[in-house]
Parts: sequence; C-alpha cells; structure tokens
Amino acid sequence: MALIVQKYGGTSVGSVERIKNVARRVIKWADAGHQVVVVVSAMSGETNRLIALAREIQPEPDPRELDVVAATGEQVTIGLLAMALKSLGRDARSYTGFQVGVHTDSAFTKARIESIDEQRMRADLELGRVVVVAGFQGMDAQGNITTLGRGGSDTSGVALAAALGADECQIYTDVDGVYTTDPRVVPEASKLPSITFEEMLEMASLGSKVLQIRSVEFAGKYRVRLRVLSSLTPWDLPLEDEMRSGTLITFEEDQNMERAVVSGIAFARDEAKITVVGVPDRPGIAYQILSAVGQANIEVDMIVQNQSVDGFTDFSFTVGRSEYARALGILKNEVQGHIGAREVLGDPKACKVSIVGVGMRSHAGIASTMFRTLSEEGINIQMISTSEIKVSVLIDEKYLELAVRALHRAFDLDDPAAG
Ligand code: ADP
Ligand code: ASP
Ligand code: MG
Repeated sequence: MALIVQKYGGTSVGSVERIKNVARRVIKWADAGHQVVVVVSAMSGETNRLIALAREIQPEPDPRELDVVAATGEQVTIGLLAMALKSLGRDARSYTGFQVGVHTDSAFTKARIESIDEQRMRADLELGRVVVVAGFQGMDAQGNITTLGRGGSDTSGVALAAALGADECQIYTDVDGVYTTDPRVVPEASKLPSITFEEMLEMASLGSKVLQIRSVEFAGKYRVRLRVLSSLTPWDLPLEDEMRSGTLITFEEDQNMERAVVSGIAFARDEAKITVVGVPDRPGIAYQILSAVGQANIEVDMIVQNQSVDGFTDFSFTVGRSEYARALGILKNEVQGHIGAREVLGDPKACKVSIVGVGMRSHAGIASTMFRTLSEEGINIQMISTSEIKVSVLIDEKYLELAVRALHRAFDLDDPAAG
C-alpha cells in the first residue's frame, strides 16, 4: 500500500463530467489498495473570472480581499469531487486549505507555505476515506485567507505530499507529461519519459507553466517523487500503463540513457526591457538603478551593462511586463536626474527564449548553435544570459513562435512521429 497525493488542474475538473471521471480514476487507485489525497484546482477559467470581478470593483484590488475572492474557486471543486466520490460509493471528505492547516506567510496573492498540519488528513486516511483538499489556498498566522500565486495548486499538491511523506505526488493535467517545449506552440514537441529535477527547475523558472516553479522547489527540498501525467486518458487505463504514460522528475541522471544535449526549450512571453542611456560610468551606478526598482518590489531578471565610451555607458535590464509602466516611471522620475543619465528608453514587447539541458555541461558550442539558428531566421538577440545548464536570449515578442520552432528543430527535438 502506498500513500499517493494526486493533483488535478483546472481543465481536469473543468466540467461535471470531468469531475466524475476524476472520481472514477481516484477510486481506481484506492481500489488497488492505496491511500489517496486529492488536491484540486478551480474549474478552468474560474480564477480568471473571479479576479476580473474583483477588478470591476477596484482596478488594483486590495490584496487581502482579492485572496478572499480568488480562493473560492477551489472550494466549489472540492465539494463537487467529494460528492462524486460518495455517489460512487467511496467515503470521502473535502477540506479547504484552512481546515487542514495549510499555514503560510502573509504575502497575499503570492504567499509561501510554512507548515501543514497533517493529522486530520491522516485520521481520515486511516478510516479508508479519500481526502480532497483545495489547492492554491492557505491561511496566515492571523487566520487571514491567502493564495499561493497563479498555478499554485501544484505547490499545494507537492507540499501536502512532503508533509504526509507520500510515496509519490502525481500532477494530472491536460497534457500527458513534460514535453521538449509547450506542445501548444510546437506540435512536433516530444514527450520526455523523464527529466532531471535540475532541468525541470530551470524549465519552470524560465516560463514552462506545466509546473509552478515553487512546486519544483518544494519537491527538491523534500525529495518528493513527482510525476506529471494526463487526466484526459480513459479513466480505466490499467495502473501500470498510466504510470508509464507520464513524465517522472528524477533526482539522478540516468547514466545509461542516451540524452539529448538540450532537453527542452522554455519561453516567457510577457517580458519588458528598460535601458538607461548615457550613464556616467562610476562605482555605485548599478546599485542606484536597481535598488530603486527593488525598493518598489519589482523583480529584475536579465541585466546587461555595456562597455563605457568616454566615461558613459548604457545599462539595460528586464522586468515582467505587468511591472513595466511602474518601473519606467520610477527610473524617469526618480533615478534619471539623480544619476545624470541622458535618457531612459523602454520596450514592453520582448520575450525570453531559453534552451535547457544538463548535457550542456559536457558539450561546447551549444550557445553558438543557438545564436546561429536565430541569425539564420533574421532574429536579433537583445540580451543573453547563461548558466551551467541553460542559455537564455531576449528577443522581440513577434519572433517568439518562430524562434522556438527553429531551435526545436536545430537541437533535434522534433518528434518524427508528430506534426
Ligand atoms: P493545469 O490547469 O492542469 O494546472 P496548466 O495549464 O497550468 O494546467 O499547465 C499545463 C499546460 O502547460 C499545458 O497545456 C501546456 O500548454 C503547457 N506547457 C508549457 N510548457 C510545457 C511543456 N514543456 N510540457 C508540457 N506542457 C507545457
Ligand atoms: N486556480 C488557480 C489558478 O488558476 C490555481 C491553480 O489552478 O493551480 O491559478
Ligand atoms: Mg497549472
């Protein structure tokens, strides 16, 4: 008997029929003798709808109250799934994040889980019940409702698995695993039977939304065995076939496996670039520019400072597009005059494309293949950043699809059977 945490995303619980299918699939696992805790998202589109409602009242909603509203989507699906399980004859209990003691900090709309009380779930499991928990939500030390950031149910699932010491956390979604890139953008993308934890962490942090970045961090910290698989296969697929169908996130590289040098391509659409032009090149300039942005709680990603010419340099960095206007305003109003820069320019239509693979450690020339491929497509690279297992470039947003497809082909990732 194993203890399994299964997480079902928005599409997987997007209709009454799909919720009934989830119930059938869960019962299949429970009937095989396993204890099952199920974490669910809100029905697809529901969280967007709730946030839009809040924005109709307040264009910049009060974060505490926004969480009160946004957290309700998951309360609907836990109740419906518990009913579906009971109507199929399986005892089940639904719980909100607060009821099972998902304790977080007070960073509304992006709270971090600090601890989870697992006794209540364990008691139900001992009684043979399926436990159904609302993803995406928790409560802070003052008892306020918090949410974990968009896509946060993945993190709820992994955190519950860690707290319970589960044998495995299974993330059921609308694709049957982790692909070489988003299959919605490249139909020739191929499914990876396994991916190393390090690669998954890079893919998620560079924009692949198949797993929320924090869920991968949690899995790494607590060594949770994590698998991504599809909820859209027939629910009565034999268990062994179901396990084989997904992608396992592994902690060790499989030495026997023939690995591609580049395992995957990630992209982030909503980037924006800001350039401070004609900055006097003296110590403390980077600090003065970036600390003003940091103090406004704006996250900076890529940073480039040019060679100085006649004592002046240009300094560029990227921020998320939703923060662009605020960041530009701060630089123009508070920084430019202060540091004596000539002007501040902005480009809100950038995107970041990254190649990821542990194989890069032992292969030279990967970055140059990337740059050659982009130049052959006439795509200008605006910024570059690298680490041991990734190379990222910032390009004009209009070339995103073209760049991802060309790189996918150039690194031999196209699935010959697809497309
Ligand atoms: P859920 O609602 O189940 O949490 P998400 O929409 O958050 O599902 O994540 C699944 C989606 O992630 C897929 O439909 C796919 O378009 C996208 N995706 C992006 N990159 C990848 C990738 N490398 N492999 C698989 N899916 C990816
Ligand atoms: N319902 C939340 C969202 O749409 C959490 C999740 O689905 O993971 O972001
Ligand atoms: Mg998701």
